[in-house]
Amino acid sequence: MQPVYLDNNATSRTDPAVVEAMLPCFTECFGNPSSGYAFGSAAAAAVRSARKRVQALVGAAHDHEIVFTSGGTESDNTAILSALNVMAGRDEVVVSAVEHPAVLTLCRHLESDRGVKVRIIPVDGRGRLDVDAFQAVLSARTAIVSLMWANNETGVIFPVAELAEMTRTVGALFHTDAVQAVGRLPVDLKETGIDMLSLSAHKLHGPKGVGALYVRRGTPFAPSILGGRQERARRAGTENVPGIVGLGKAAECAMDTVSAEGPRIARLRDRLEQGLQQRIDGTHVNGDTTARLPNTCNIAFEGVESDALVALLDRAGIACSSGSACTSGSTEPSHVLKAMAVPPQFLRGAVRFSLSRDTGEADIARVLAVMPEIVGRLRKPMPSQPFNQPSGLVHA
Ligand code: PLP
Repeated sequence: MQPVYLDNNATSRTDPAVVEAMLPCFTECFGNPSSGYAFGSAAAAAVRSARKRVQALVGAAHDHEIVFTSGGTESDNTAILSALNVMAGRDEVVVSAVEHPAVLTLCRHLESDRGVKVRIIPVDGRGRLDVDAFQAVLSARTAIVSLMWANNETGVIFPVAELAEMTRTVGALFHTDAVQAVGRLPVDLKETGIDMLSLSAHKLHGPKGVGALYVRRGTPFAPSILGGRQERARRAGTENVPGIVGLGKAAECAMDTVSAEGPRIARLRDRLEQGLQQRIDGTHVNGDTTARLPNTCNIAFEGVESDALVALLDRAGIACSSGSACTSGSTEPSHVLKAMAVPPQFLRGAVRFSLSRDTGEADIARVLAVMPEIVGRLRKPMPSQPFNQPSGLVHA
């Protein structure tokens, strides 16, 4: 039986068209884009064309607003560190309690090692940002606000365009981690006041280890990686040409599919979610279901440990996750669900299903067919073990 892959927020299958586009970068177009001869100019042209494709996907006004990086984590780190370096006299960072570790771990480090004040904005029970609390902390000391476009665990969408406008009123920079949003929602940066945006290729059927940071023209910027003058001196190091070309192709495919695929994927996700709720008692959907990515369902099953559920689903050939890929495997409940104050009986039993354009009706039918039995098995009390005293031994 074909395995069912429903963990696309962790990573997505590289599109065969992306692989095909990348292959010549290893064999024929292998030059260094900085070299002045033909091999170099061919590689530089490939990078230029990828940049235009990423520009188009996010609706950036200029292609040089796109800086290629090693992925979402580097883009997030670079945006925040850059702002702290360039925004003279401002030493505060504003983030939400549900940001990805790529933001929160950096912030914890900045607070303990560099004395940066980090303001953490709470969310409500549905994972929505407390906008009043956000506005209350904005001040002339704010260097940067970093708020995610869509949450990786629940799919809940923050109103980033409005939040960017509010940030402008105090003269701070606005960055959004859009790693889960780009390729899943239409994004048009020209329509917003967002200064910086992070994206990652492997979440949109591109290769791993490559991404981009959008930096709006005119935004003050300090690079994190110093060396050569690649990427207009904003990110040193020989370009990952195959990765960048793969990201460009993935961006082009996403442009072609995002509008049509979103509603189809949302219908499948809703069928899965409603089907699970109908077939199984004691379920709880985590996150606001009105402003949510079309592909994400975070659902908890009362009386079940999510790691055990994920393991049994894996044995049935179904891949999904408990929490995010970066935190699953830890015994701590997810920081996102804790920030949402999810009731204790649901906190440990949450599973994330994340769909993609590869997902079909048969995948959803398989999950719905096996889940009731698996959840039932996990809920059954363990038979009590008879106590077998080894014969001949006398215990004191
Ligand atoms: N931000 C979010 C919201 C993510 O979901 C992820 C990956 O899971 C990242 C950042 C990190 O991206 P990358 O794996 O490209 O470093």
